[in-house]
Amino acid sequence: MQALTKRSKVVSNKRMSFMEKIYLPAIIKGMMITLSHFFKKKVTVNYPEVKRPIAPVYRGQHVLKRDENGAERCTACGLCAVACPAEAITMVAEERKAGEEGLYREEKYASTYEINMLRCIFCGLCEEACPKEAIFLTDRIVPSTFERHEFVYGKDKLVEPTAKDERVDITERQNVDTVEFKKHKEYAHNILYTKNTLK
Ligand code: SF4
Ligand code: SF4
Repeated sequence: MQALTKRSKVVSNKRMSFMEKIYLPAIIKGMMITLSHFFKKKVTVNYPEVKRPIAPVYRGQHVLKRDENGAERCTACGLCAVACPAEAITMVAEERKAGEEGLYREEKYASTYEINMLRCIFCGLCEEACPKEAIFLTDRIVPSTFERHEFVYGKDKLVEPTAKDERVDITERQNVDTVEFKKHKEYAHNILYTKNTLK
């Protein structure tokens, strides 16, 4: 039968010489290669003690943002979940009750919001789909763990802290168009807490 590619190799069936049979030259050759790597510059780092520099727009662990008063921005519209190609996002929507205006910015909010980090491919489509600028990816790396259920991140891990000095800065993720958009006072409701607005 004629081969479809030229990748196939004819296997040699020749008898091994004495030196080949004792494997010693091959072992020494292999050890020499290993030894030569001892004196080369290491390409690995001792993570997590040492971290490689990553781009400010690296797509890592998500954050659910709060507004300038500390209220959650997410209105549980579900657009991020629909946009997610990995179906990693789930949420449960609730109506905001009287007196909860300081907790939730819109009349509807997510009482449960979960992202399965094992499903997530960190594409950033949820960030792009969000009309409330509530979800952003950050330069934080999702830590490894041994249990699958620990990769399902709920609001306890996703919503940023209320204290202004503990907020997650996403300034670097604002593209030129977004920064321009925020200069318009009529869209002030969409202004985020960033490094600059927190000052
Ligand atoms: S980054 Fe992509 S895969 Fe991950 S939750 Fe967002 S839309 Fe889904
Ligand atoms: S994060 Fe944004 S897109 Fe997702 S449910 Fe909340 S408001 Fe909607």
